[in-house]
Amino acid sequence: MEHNLREAGFFGTMEPEQMTAKYGSPVYVYNEGILRSRCRELKQMVTYPHFVIDYSIKANFNPALLQIVKEEGLEVDVMSPGEIYLAKMAGYEPNQIFYICNNVSEEEMCYAIEAGVTTSVDSLSQLEQYGRLNPGGKVAIRLNPGHGAGHHQKVVTAGKETKFGIDAEMLHEVKEILARHNLALIGLNQHIGSLFLDKEQYLKSVDSILNCAKEFPDLEFVDFGGGFGISYHKEDKKKRLDLKDLGKELDEIMYRFAEEYGREIIFRAEPGRYVTAESSVLLGTVTAVKNNHENKYIGTDIGFNVLMRPVLYDSYHEIEVYGKSVEMSGKKERVTVVGNICESGDILAKDRMLPSMREKDVIGVLDAGAYGHVMSSNYNGRLRPAEVLVKEDREVCLIRKRDTFEDLAGNYVLLP
Ligand SMILES: *Cc1c(COP(=O)(O)O)cnc(C)c1O
Repeated sequence: MEHNLREAGFFGTMEPEQMTAKYGSPVYVYNEGILRSRCRELKQMVTYPHFVIDYSIKANFNPALLQIVKEEGLEVDVMSPGEIYLAKMAGYEPNQIFYICNNVSEEEMCYAIEAGVTTSVDSLSQLEQYGRLNPGGKVAIRLNPGHGAGHHQKVVTAGKETKFGIDAEMLHEVKEILARHNLALIGLNQHIGSLFLDKEQYLKSVDSILNCAKEFPDLEFVDFGGGFGISYHKEDKKKRLDLKDLGKELDEIMYRFAEEYGREIIFRAEPGRYVTAESSVLLGTVTAVKNNHENKYIGTDIGFNVLMRPVLYDSYHEIEVYGKSVEMSGKKERVTVVGNICESGDILAKDRMLPSMREKDVIGVLDAGAYGHVMSSNYNGRLRPAEVLVKEDREVCLIRKRDTFEDLAGNYVLLP
């Protein structure tokens, strides 16, 4: 990707300033071409014929984007009945949806069973619950391979210090519960964590899940998990996870396993971020420029209610400035870019060298397509932004309206 996305044609037929004027500021802008390329890279990463990519829709479940992902041949994994509902809205059939649940109620589990969606449970207690609700049914379990990976403690989802998965030591108890409720174990899955750029931990976990898989002769699939990383730091020219390289190793492992197991079962991976992160730029507007003691602050309308990742995980997002004055001066200065929420932690980017900005300049926050809009909220009574899509023919269309004050009032009930 070229450094300035406007010059690279990211925004199609419109200028960023026209987009904020038309759809409101801030606004999430997606690029269809980039989304499709990521899907295709994933589909083509191995030669093994029964390899399914499940897009983990919690990263971004806008149904219009899901329609594109579906056209590219990816299936989906979901975390809740609400996500099952949205996947169906985008045209997914129940057999293309994999429900990976964590500490869910009986109602939620029943919703998935009635919808005909394969469910994976992640504790003995939830396996018991599943058996009571759907005796004689088919089920998958999530294993904890005993080690994790990820960019921040909060996104490491396996290992001894997390709530996820069933320990491989407990397979004996798993078998007892399966037998008691006459359940067929059709799948094993795992997810070790988010955003790794180095394949080693992932391959290690593949090895451990396949060791467990040998103990269950009737599996339909083994799911290795997601977490495929992209580089949020453009200046160090690091690349996203090398899929070709990982795919080569996986191919070898999958063919070898199929031979030992006696059958070519289905293997799956479930990336979220890799699919959507780079397909979006979040546009916002500079509303104030000020010096407070030693620091220069750029005040914007991108509070953490719009993009939560920096506040939640100290995440880094590259920022581009699209104002006309910027191109003329070419000067850079050290600034801290903040939002409009009444909390001092509301920082989008700390101590960055950026072109000098003025009020009304439009800025772009890169790689905002995963864990961006889905985590937005109405905190401080603010409206969640619109989402627009730059199609492959470069035309721009609205795929989610901006909230209105009526939406904000939505579910409240006034006292008589
Ligand atoms: C969040 C999640 C994913 C996707 O993680 P990414 O880092 O976005 O690839 C996959 N599987 C499960 C179970 C998850 O919870």
